Amino acid sequence: MALQIVLSPDERLREECEPIDQIDDDIKKLAQQMAKTMYKYEGCGIAAPQVGVLKQLIVIDCDWGDTGKKNPIFLINPEIVEKSDDIITECEGCLSIPGVSFEIERSRHVVVHARDLEGRLMQYDAKDGLFCRCLQHEIDHLHGITMFERLKPQDRLSAVRAYHEALDNGAMPGDTEV
Ligand SMILES: [Zn+2]
Repeated sequence: MALQIVLSPDERLREECEPIDQIDDDIKKLAQQMAKTMYKYEGCGIAAPQVGVLKQLIVIDCDWGDTGKKNPIFLINPEIVEKSDDIITECEGCLSIPGVSFEIERSRHVVVHARDLEGRLMQYDAKDGLFCRCLQHEIDHLHGITMFERLKPQDRLSAVRAYHEALDNGAMPGDTEV
C-alpha cells in the first residue's frame, strides 16, 4: 500500500528524526511501503518524515527512471561521514514540495555510512550525479531540513511564493512543474 505524502509546510518536515535501534518487522514494512510510495509518485528518493514517520530511514532508487528496473536502496540511520567543499548547483525537486524545482548547492562528493534492512553496515561513496545529490537531499529530511532551508535567504521568499502558487494551481506530489 502506498502512503500519503506529507506536504510542506507540515511541521513534521522540520523535526529531527529518531535513530532506529531495532530493525523489526514494522520497520521492514515501513521501508517497503515507502518504496511503493516513491515509485507511485515517480520520485528517486523518499525519507520517512515525508510519510509522517519521524525515524531515520530513507529509500533511494536513482536508476529506475532510466532503466525501468526497480532496485531500491534502503538506508537506516544514514550519516554523511565525509563531504567535499567542492560544490555543484543543480535543479532539484521534492515530493513534499510539488510543482516547483529549485537550484540547490550540494557537495560534489560524499561518503555515507548506513545500515541496510539486514542491519549490515554499508558505505556509499558518491560523486557527481543524481545519487550523490539524492543522498544529501534525503539525509537533510531526517534532520528537518527541506529545500527551502538550503536556498539563500534572499531567494527563499520568492521560492515559497512560487510553491504556494503551484499548490493553488493543483500541484501534486511528483509534479516538478505546473
Ligand atoms: Zn525531499
